[in-house]
Amino acid sequence: MAKITVTKEFSWDMAHMLSGHEGLCKNLHGHTYKMQVEVSSKGGSLIEDDKSSKGMIIDFKNLKEIVRDKIIDRLDHAFLYWTGSGDVVEHKIAELLKESGRKVAEVPYRPTAEEMVIDFYNILFVELGHHAIIVESIKLWETPTSFAEVRGE
Ligand SMILES: [Zn+2]
Repeated sequence: MAKITVTKEFSWDMAHMLSGHEGLCKNLHGHTYKMQVEVSSKGGSLIEDDKSSKGMIIDFKNLKEIVRDKIIDRLDHAFLYWTGSGDVVEHKIAELLKESGRKVAEVPYRPTAEEMVIDFYNILFVELGHHAIIVESIKLWETPTSFAEVRGE
């Protein structure tokens, strides 16, 4: 049987640095991240019992609100700070920004696209699971030609 999914695309700007990287990525820099979240419904069924959402897997508006609320609002125009970084410069930058009331998002992992997309998958697995929605795939672009992807099982 054919499978039906829906996909919503998101974008935000964010700064990071990759502690220990031997190239340019050890420097403080930013990306316009792009993300696609592809979802399906449990059992492949479409909503029947809701007038507004009848025939849908999930209303795109609801999907957008959940992803923005649980992931993007915290990251947009923030410095993504690895609290376990081995680079003292990263800790000083985070400290200065926080002291100055600027936006810092703390994570316990090196902020690569791979680590980020795994984190996002785990968040959305739980949040969308509450709505009987399955996360099929999340793709996260760091540049227009480079992305990491997690696929659900
Ligand atoms: Zn980067």
